[in-house]
Amino acid sequence: MNNKSYSYIVYIGRFQPPHHAHIKIIKQALEQATEGVIILIGSAKQPRTIKNPFTYEERRQMILSSLPEYQHKILHFAPLRDIPYNDQKWASEVQRLANEVSYPNQNHGIIGHSKDESSYYLKMFPQWELVEVGNIEDINATKIRKALFAEESDFDLNIGRNLPTAIHDWIKAFMLTPWYEQLVREYKFISNYRKSWETSPYMVTFVTVDAVVIQSGHVLLVRRRAEPGRGTFALPGGFVGRNESLIEAALRELREETRIKVPAPVLQGNIKCCRVYDHPKRSLRGRTITHVYLIELPSGPLPKVKGGDDADKAKWIPLNTVAQMEDLLFEDHYSIIEDILGKL
Ligand code: NAD
Repeated sequence: MNNKSYSYIVYIGRFQPPHHAHIKIIKQALEQATEGVIILIGSAKQPRTIKNPFTYEERRQMILSSLPEYQHKILHFAPLRDIPYNDQKWASEVQRLANEVSYPNQNHGIIGHSKDESSYYLKMFPQWELVEVGNIEDINATKIRKALFAEESDFDLNIGRNLPTAIHDWIKAFMLTPWYEQLVREYKFISNYRKSWETSPYMVTFVTVDAVVIQSGHVLLVRRRAEPGRGTFALPGGFVGRNESLIEAALRELREETRIKVPAPVLQGNIKCCRVYDHPKRSLRGRTITHVYLIELPSGPLPKVKGGDDADKAKWIPLNTVAQMEDLLFEDHYSIIEDILGKL
């Protein structure tokens, strides 16, 4: 173990949920940091899913509940949102959040464990010395979530032991809420979905299309009627049919899901660009590569829309409102809108 001391130590994590290993790392950071520990809670503005079941504030409270109160005052928390299609913007956000509590030229460390390829971000901050920790008891948050949503008795008997008592109790109380019921339904849906493709001789990659339709400072969104992500807002889109091109699929899905009162040739004539969004973890259903068409309609009154079969309501939402809706948008659709609008 590196026993050096630092003025501040930065600790980035998803903490879904915080477990013994996370708390042990925070305790080590507290021993090595003279001024404070900056805990950046990642994936902060996601809607609740089986991968991100707890909000930023819930995770912050869970962490605090498992540390003595006298240490709370030197812990600095901040929500860190994902920017999956722009790592440099994300790194800049990490720098900004750290600079809010400390001066950039202070002697900082960044603590973490390089567990797999997803830990690449630990090397993105050469200005801070990496305080590498080893694997702690093989504790794994994915296994904890699996037990939580699919094997309740295993959670009670075994897996729950990986959690500090206060966090275990907090989660037991969460298991009585409607949020938990919804997540259990989502877990079942996703595991059945994945099982149905398990026998395929090759790993399946799904090809989908989505449309970002803009008119007069509004974007067209639909409310999801079905799992996964029931109740979240999404871009109109879906799977590409066997006998259609990507563009045909995008226009078909758009018209089916929103019943937009604009003829297909006019929609097609206003396509400004098409971009591929392929983050390997963008969908819980499996590897899904989507092709997103940006359609900018001429300014004027907003065309009539209503929901289709898969979508309960289609709605024009002011862009400024969408900017506040990150935790209500399905999968990476918020990041897609943000990214593609930069192309306008
Ligand atoms: P995590 O909660 O899984 O882990 C946090 C830290 O604790 C990691 O260093 C991890 O290796 C360590 N850890 C976990 N279990 C351990 C154990 N048993 N023993 C020792 N150490 C252990 O969180 P994470 O997935 O590493 O968090 C990274 C966050 O940064 C995520 O929210 C991710 O989305 C975000 N991120 C975003 C971008 C982007 O948006 N462009 C890029 C990179 C990372």
